[in-house]
Amino acid sequence: MKKNTTSKGWGSVAVHGGHRPDAAHAHLTPIYASSTYVFDSAEQGMHRFTGQEPGYIYARWGNPTVTEAEEKIALLETYGLNLEAKGILHASGMAAITTLLMSTLSQGDKILSHFSLYGGTDELVHRILPRFGISAVIGDLRDLDRAEELLKSDRSIKMLYLETPANPTLQCVDLAALCALAKKYNCLVACDNTFATPYLQQPLAHGADFVIHSTTKFLNGHGTAIGGILIGKDVERMKTSIGKFFRTTGACASPFDAYLLTQGIKTLEVRMDKHCANAEQIAAFLDQHAAVARVNYTGLSSHPDHVIASKQMRHAGALLSFELKNGLQGGIDFMNKLQLCVRAVSLGTCDTLLSHPASMTHFSVPKEEKEKYGITDGLIRMHVGIETAADIIADLDQALQ
Ligand SMILES: *Cc1c(COP(=O)(O)O)cnc(C)c1O
Repeated sequence: MKKNTTSKGWGSVAVHGGHRPDAAHAHLTPIYASSTYVFDSAEQGMHRFTGQEPGYIYARWGNPTVTEAEEKIALLETYGLNLEAKGILHASGMAAITTLLMSTLSQGDKILSHFSLYGGTDELVHRILPRFGISAVIGDLRDLDRAEELLKSDRSIKMLYLETPANPTLQCVDLAALCALAKKYNCLVACDNTFATPYLQQPLAHGADFVIHSTTKFLNGHGTAIGGILIGKDVERMKTSIGKFFRTTGACASPFDAYLLTQGIKTLEVRMDKHCANAEQIAAFLDQHAAVARVNYTGLSSHPDHVIASKQMRHAGALLSFELKNGLQGGIDFMNKLQLCVRAVSLGTCDTLLSHPASMTHFSVPKEEKEKYGITDGLIRMHVGIETAADIIADLDQALQ
């Protein structure tokens, strides 16, 4: 495989990677609002269709504004690695996950995964894919012996599907160890890297075959568009069977959203540095607060996955959760008192977002189910923004009174 040969720094690739000079000398790649592309001759049309000549044909298949975002993210996911990868931008993170699972798995195949997958992924894996004969085996994959036992006992498992760190308790799994196991049992490995971003963690470096992002989050960075990307290191497969599935099922990204995404990624490094520095201060503040029973943040040595996270991530990231001592009502009261911080689900925006799973995302989930995911009544999930840390802390402090 080809090396990502750039000798440039991470920030330079984030800013310039994927950019091609524009025919009209526009500084930024324009938003190509065109549904179809023109052939100079019948022969050229033929050559584009057969792939003999590169070029755009129809915007469901590809678009120059979209290509720039795809190439930029693929370069960042392979930064410094001896491999090449191809990204396909989708209309949403869920669309990218759907393409991955439906284009690589067939009836009778299984995936091996863990608890506390993203809600949409959980729904897809447990309620939609079973109708097509694709099912999931769920285990605690932090226990490597258990993971091997599951892989060994069920040879219809064709893919390990990982999310690390995972919502809402920031559980992490050992990417290198699980990829090595998967290889032994001839399994593909996919990792949802949304929480970490390629700046903090590179699943491909540990042996993963696919990386997925909801680009809606940190990559876009400003909460201005929904999007998702599927990146694969088997470039041929990405161009053929997976690309064909994508082109046919039509979950393509809009060029406007791709444009916003490209501009967002350019500042990913500086944003992440600030998100992470803020999160560290806020975790320390919450950790010593009398109203807080527990803080889940992998940057704290008290987190059960602190060691794994430190091994495979540049920094613990900007997501944390904490448990209030006063249960459901305590959580509701706290949320209502927030003034600077925003009450909203999602993550990766410039502003700090907090949600209370027990009264919001998981309100209708039975208690035993919730506990399996580590969701207690007083649990608050927090995405730490890039505001001034002292202001975030002051807001939390007054809301905790
Ligand atoms: C948001 C999210 C998704 C889904 O992405 P959409 O862009 O909302 O479709 C998948 N995985 C994780 C970890 C997410 O946070």
